[in-house]
Amino acid sequence: LQSKLPTLGNSIFSQMSLLAAEHRAINLSQGFPDFPSNPQLIEFLAESARDGLNQYAPMPGVLVLRQQISILVQRCYQRVLCPEQQITVTSGATEALFVAIQALVRPGDEVIVFDPAYDSYQPAVELAGGFTVHVPLQPPLYQVDWVQLEKQISKKTRLIIVNSPHNPTGAVFSHQDWLSLQTLVLKHRLYCISDEVYEHLVFDGEAQLSANQYPDLAERTVVVSSFGKTLHVTGWKLGYAVASVELTSEFRKIHQYVTFSSFTPAQYAIARLLCEQPDDVTGLAAFYQQKRDQFRQALAASAWSLLPCRGSYFQLADYSAFSDLDDVAFCHWLTREHKVAAIPLSVFYRQSPSQRIIRFCFAKEPQTLAMATEILCRLS
Ligand code: PMP
Ligand code: GLN
Repeated sequence: LQSKLPTLGNSIFSQMSLLAAEHRAINLSQGFPDFPSNPQLIEFLAESARDGLNQYAPMPGVLVLRQQISILVQRCYQRVLCPEQQITVTSGATEALFVAIQALVRPGDEVIVFDPAYDSYQPAVELAGGFTVHVPLQPPLYQVDWVQLEKQISKKTRLIIVNSPHNPTGAVFSHQDWLSLQTLVLKHRLYCISDEVYEHLVFDGEAQLSANQYPDLAERTVVVSSFGKTLHVTGWKLGYAVASVELTSEFRKIHQYVTFSSFTPAQYAIARLLCEQPDDVTGLAAFYQQKRDQFRQALAASAWSLLPCRGSYFQLADYSAFSDLDDVAFCHWLTREHKVAAIPLSVFYRQSPSQRIIRFCFAKEPQTLAMATEILCRLS
């Protein structure tokens, strides 16, 4: 068989979580919480299943959930959405990203992504027959140079994929970034996918901004969110896509033949939670900021050099002061010999600069973070 994705193997998240399990290491690699979600949510899930809500959901998602999503989006971003025509529930943000890319990218199109970027964009673009064009983000702030970015736009550019808060760097778009993006999208008649799975995780009192707040941009954008991140249930694989009526209609044509619909009892459970306890979602920043601060404070006096983290649940750390290993070898060594797993930063790049930086996930119990940071401090 001639592979359609010849350069790809198992994703780094599968590799590192497997290695962590094999070596009984503390897993700060793949991004998922090690603490339970709200027990009420689990109760609602069980009740939905017991009440017989176990058959196919409607293709765009159960209406009560789409109504709750529209209330949430209006509350957070003051955007008024039509739940029937502008919100589609998906099997995780991963499905929403894949479907949006298939809907927007035609053979030969160019798609702008950042370098580094989350790993699922490029394969989805290539399966659609498109090509990714990589615009570098510079450490330590990993901000976008919009002037440089515009120089990469050609007649073939169709789409730009942005991600704020950003995985893996923790960078967050400012109001000015969103305005620059909006200007370019309108000027060059591009489409945009805004991957906002960490939308509620913005720290230090900074504003949580979204493509949903910029009406001209929003008109040409698919905004992607994930309940896995927001409700600490990554294994439920539920997310959603918000877009204009026209884009939603194209999105659904593909969604209906990728999954048709997503896990029904969890949709009802999440709808009930959002209705009865809406602050669960919007109070997340303070909760995760504590974890970020615990992790950073524990390593402050060590030889690790921590990069800024303004959002997401990832912390980048530079180990060049005490090891010459490249980041992939370093992560394997750290997992095998010291029982802490992390993700090498280079895997998120097309062209990785020579640097020694790895990514830790701090979505963990205080004891887990304490044990891991104690080991990490001893190393350096
Ligand atoms: N986008 C980004 C930036 C992510 O970090 C992730 C990983 N969770 C996803 C999308 C996929 O989210 P989901 O688990 O809901 O498919
Ligand atoms: N988004 C998660 C991360 O960046 C992992 C998702 C996955 O395992 N594919 O760690």
